[in-house]
Amino acid sequence: MSDTSLRVVWVYPDLLSTYGDQGNVLVVERRAQQRGLDVQRIDVRSDQQIPTSGDIYLIGGGEDRPQRLASERLVRDGGLERAHDNGAIIFSVCAGYQILGHEFVNDLGERQPGLGLLDVTSGRGEDERCVGDVLADMDERLGLPQLTGFENHQGVTHLGPTARPLARVRLGKGNGTGDGTEGAYNGTVFGTYMHGPVLARNPLIGDLLIKLALDVNALPPVDDRWYEALRGERIASATQPA
Ligand code: GLN
Repeated sequence: MSDTSLRVVWVYPDLLSTYGDQGNVLVVERRAQQRGLDVQRIDVRSDQQIPTSGDIYLIGGGEDRPQRLASERLVRDGGLERAHDNGAIIFSVCAGYQILGHEFVNDLGERQPGLGLLDVTSGRGEDERCVGDVLADMDERLGLPQLTGFENHQGVTHLGPTARPLARVRLGKGNGTGDGTEGAYNGTVFGTYMHGPVLARNPLIGDLLIKLALDVNALPPVDDRWYEALRGERIASATQPA
């Protein structure tokens, strides 16, 4: 990557983009441009090859069948693993998160292999779907404010020893295993159950991805008033008594 350019790859918008997850791409793009970076956005449909030289890869959520198809294609393609080996940053949501793990249970009730880029394994929860607003404290090592998002998933995700929980829920289910964890990360790979779109509600996570991609500790500040208003509104609505 040159000092001023950033290649942002949006993986399979035709299969994986529920609940406005496209917003994650827009937020990363916009916040990078606000810092003077020249952003090249690459949308990769599921019939195209995954480029291996991107800086940041974003993967959204999906219904059970599209999730099965997306995982089959990504495993066959191999490009995301190569991008990861090249040092790419990968941020995934819900179905995308499950696909980055070792395996998940698909719409046919079968255990299906994922990419194994995150040390997590997903199964299907026995209880009702996890649906609703979530508030969670981000892992303290990340030094980020409270996570706000919306979840809707049947899958539950168990973390292996090399995955750190992204956050711990105060409200909502997150990974759905009853241990209070939400999402996972390891180095340059991130997964969360949060929609929202999650980076619009939590723009400093978007900045974290950009910082990791640029290998810098800080970015120039930008006007966050709009984001703050959205965060405030969503957090208030989640915590208000019904
Ligand atoms: N199909 C997956 C599940 O229900 C993911 C859902 C989603 O991405 N919103 O667990």
